Amino acid sequence: MPVIKADAYGHGLLDIASALWEDRFDHLAVGTVFEAVQLRKGGFGGVIVALLGALSDEDIAAAREHCIVPLIHDWSGLERLGTPAQRPLIVGLKVNTGMSRLGFPVGADAGEFGAVLDFLGKQTSLNPEYLISHLAVADVPGEDAFTLKQVALFQRAVAMSKERYPSLTASLGNSAGLLAYPQLAGDLARPGIALYGGNPFYNTEKEFLGAELLQVMQVTAPVLETRKLYPGQSIGYGRTYVAESERTVAIVGVGYADGFRRNPHPEACLTLHGRRARIVGRVSMQMTAVDITDLLSVKPGDSAYILGGEGDAVTVHDLADWWGSLPYEVMCLLGALNK
Ligand SMILES: *Cc1c(COP(=O)(O)O)cnc(C)c1O
Repeated sequence: MPVIKADAYGHGLLDIASALWEDRFDHLAVGTVFEAVQLRKGGFGGVIVALLGALSDEDIAAAREHCIVPLIHDWSGLERLGTPAQRPLIVGLKVNTGMSRLGFPVGADAGEFGAVLDFLGKQTSLNPEYLISHLAVADVPGEDAFTLKQVALFQRAVAMSKERYPSLTASLGNSAGLLAYPQLAGDLARPGIALYGGNPFYNTEKEFLGAELLQVMQVTAPVLETRKLYPGQSIGYGRTYVAESERTVAIVGVGYADGFRRNPHPEACLTLHGRRARIVGRVSMQMTAVDITDLLSVKPGDSAYILGGEGDAVTVHDLADWWGSLPYEVMCLLGALNK
């Protein structure tokens, strides 16, 4: 069940969904019911799980109308969704095994989850078909003990649920969980970042686990002008860069309005003609200057790659490093602002 929440991590909900549908994926997970409805209206015929659940009356009506599977994570959700209806609504149950954001408790207080199952057993308006929990530190080598504790708690919840609902589908593994513990994925895996080529183990000793993933997103911007900078000449706001020797720079049409961070690491680059060019001076709202002294063939109208491209391409992991961020945030930000 690929996770395509948040506009498929910035890659475009319907584009990614149709690629996955062609590859015969028949379960997709999104965040909100709103996203789920977009996906249904876009023609996806499989199961759509809304991980954040159905919050409002509109959400609940939409879930019923469009056959969307909301997750229920607390009693108020059970009560909201459990109103009598002609057909039972297929739902998923979310249990908390250690993330402690959403979910029924299943630790020492697992008695409460037993009560949830009793409640469900006594009514006919909800039909639980999925049981889901989420791993908190599967991407952190050295935190294996916590992850294995989560797995054990989840298995207990699965056993409790399957007593009453033998055909229930259990789903635990995110990308990191799948790469590190493929045997523990549950019945239905939920990869997100790995689908788009993000390595959840980047910068860790387990980086090799995701080394073969290919990055999906590319972002380009045009070169607007090239110019010489003479010794002592500065460039951009704040005059933070002053040329010490004669340099040639290209002004590229991308800036913080496009999600391109204003204060990157001093080594941050773009790729031009397959080679990296260092950013010089401040990133402006819609312009960024790069040093092309070694790349004099660059001319106005050429495409600069902010992310991806040919040759020495900038990866989401590079941008995450240069921005003090994560591949997740880099994809969401650039995806949202570069449609
Ligand atoms: C986002 C999300 C995933 C996918 O996580 P990745 O780390 O991107 O693989 C899986 N399950 C839930 C509940 C999520 O919110």
